[in-house]
Amino acid sequence: MQGSLVVVSGFSGAGKGTVMKRLLEKYDNYALSVSATTRQPREGEQEGVSYFFKTPDAFSDMIAKGELIEYANYCGNFYGTPKSYVEQQLQAGKDVLLEIEVQGALKVKAQIPDAVLVFITPPSMLELEARLRGRQTETEDVIAKRMARAKEEAGIMEQYDYLVVNDALETCVDELHGLIQKQHDRISQQKAFIDKIRQELSIY
Ligand code: 5GP
Repeated sequence: MQGSLVVVSGFSGAGKGTVMKRLLEKYDNYALSVSATTRQPREGEQEGVSYFFKTPDAFSDMIAKGELIEYANYCGNFYGTPKSYVEQQLQAGKDVLLEIEVQGALKVKAQIPDAVLVFITPPSMLELEARLRGRQTETEDVIAKRMARAKEEAGIMEQYDYLVVNDALETCVDELHGLIQKQHDRISQQKAFIDKIRQELSIY
């Protein structure tokens, strides 16, 4: 059976990265897509693990060759999802996770209507601000920019399929896992089984 394509977005500071990491640790059958980006690597980031780091020319080349499912400009850098890995993993029956921002998420949905869009949010915006401050690496200016960006992103939350509140990590991870597993029951995911039933009925 083909796996589900799951797009996860959320405000900066919502804890998406931690949720994804825990989901992959706790349950089998997930594959996390590694994006291409033109932004510079941060300390500790590894080529091919965190991102595929590209020059603007190499990124343009990937676009021209149709190698990306979607791409978007976020804060001055390009980010895109490589197509081949996602297709291979879905065909192998894996549930593929894309952790991408909202413009890209909507492009995925337009192209692949069966994709499930999940928005992760902290329980309140006061909590979001507290989490951003808690990182202790962000300046006041960056915190203000991220809260402004959250305000913009909140404007399109209705276009997502599910909203998951990240209050307690394990609860959030289990809820996300549960809703992804439910996607396998969707009729559109059951093509092989439906074909089998039709084949069996053909003798009557
Ligand atoms: P960062 O620079 O902090 O790693 O990522 C910035 C934003 O880009 C995050 O919201 C992240 O989810 C998003 N992002 C990462 N990869 C992709 C991608 O392939 N496509 C799109 N549209 N957004 C991405």
